[in-house]
Amino acid sequence: MASRPIQSGVVDARQRVGSPPARPTSLSLGGTTVAAVGSARLYVCGITPYDVTHLGHASTFVWADVIASVLDASGVRPRVCRNITDVDDVLMEAARSKGRHFDEYALVQQSLFEQSMRALRVGTPAEEPRARHHIEAVQQLAQALLDLGVAYERDGTVWFRAGDVVERSGLSRERALELSADYGDAPDDPAKDDPFDVPVWRASSDDDPAWISPWGWGRPGWHAECAAMAWSVHGPSVDVLVGGEDLAFPHHAYQSAMVEAVSGFTPFARAVLHVGEVRIDGAKMAKSTGNLVLVDDILQGCSPAALRLLLLARPYGEAWDYEPSRLAEAEGALQRLYAAAGRAGSSTDPDSAVALLREDLDVAGACARAEADGGEVARRLITALRLG
Ligand code: ZN
Repeated sequence: MASRPIQSGVVDARQRVGSPPARPTSLSLGGTTVAAVGSARLYVCGITPYDVTHLGHASTFVWADVIASVLDASGVRPRVCRNITDVDDVLMEAARSKGRHFDEYALVQQSLFEQSMRALRVGTPAEEPRARHHIEAVQQLAQALLDLGVAYERDGTVWFRAGDVVERSGLSRERALELSADYGDAPDDPAKDDPFDVPVWRASSDDDPAWISPWGWGRPGWHAECAAMAWSVHGPSVDVLVGGEDLAFPHHAYQSAMVEAVSGFTPFARAVLHVGEVRIDGAKMAKSTGNLVLVDDILQGCSPAALRLLLLARPYGEAWDYEPSRLAEAEGALQRLYAAAGRAGSSTDPDSAVALLREDLDVAGACARAEADGGEVARRLITALRLG
């Protein structure tokens, strides 16, 4: 049948489309499929600006950057929010030990962190909320939890009742107690009803930063800060919650539980991405143990693209040991990708490697496919991983 002539003044979409329409997009993460329509909300637990950027930090933020980039390459606009925890006891102690005001100290450390992120080509998030700018939101959260009867106030501190947080985490009670103690939730504090209750709002002593609240002078609890910042930016749920695996419990478990308790929307995060820790000789890289490998030091002798590829060279949840020899391996893999991109391709599907990234961020599989297929397949992967 002959096609109908196009009427003057009527837009014919067929003439205006230069490429096939985007495929329906979904991202598979840890067994969860997240269908995305138009845009996707990412909440990335950012830094506490008291420390130089080491490989452990970099790994988390490069993986977060890859999710954003894969969504972008798939026609979905990533809306990335990466917070700055600039009200935190660890930061206060670090600033005190250097004889600096915590505000000034945090700004300097944050600026150094941003330099490292730029060097690693991590995209600048659209939103970078700071805890100190969300004090009122934390207070609103605390009041809402009190109104619902899932929090109680005692001596100026508002405690969130743990409820079934531990059960939902899948951890044993013993392991959960260890982690709560490790991350400053003081399960043995006699001031609270249950070892697993955590502060939404904390009374401040004379040495701590403090803001006035309905419960006296105080400051936000760590988990409540992220709950309030995420809600302020993205509303009461997010598509992907990202952080190092050490944030899964207690931090993300309580952040999610607080928001869910108030909003009624479950789950708070449709998918989570917890990045495996980076180790040196089997020990976690951490300031407290002093076994740090700094991003800036590595970049003295290696390209940012090779370092990115090294950080992405395994499933995101896997813990791994850093060894300098791995940098040379990553550089070799990068050169193979570039060579593949430079030759004529053999695939009819230029999206084939990027499609593998949508399957639980299978970077290794995508690189193998790009090397095999070459041409546009490899070029699109290089762009999607920001290795160009
Ligand atoms: Zn957080």
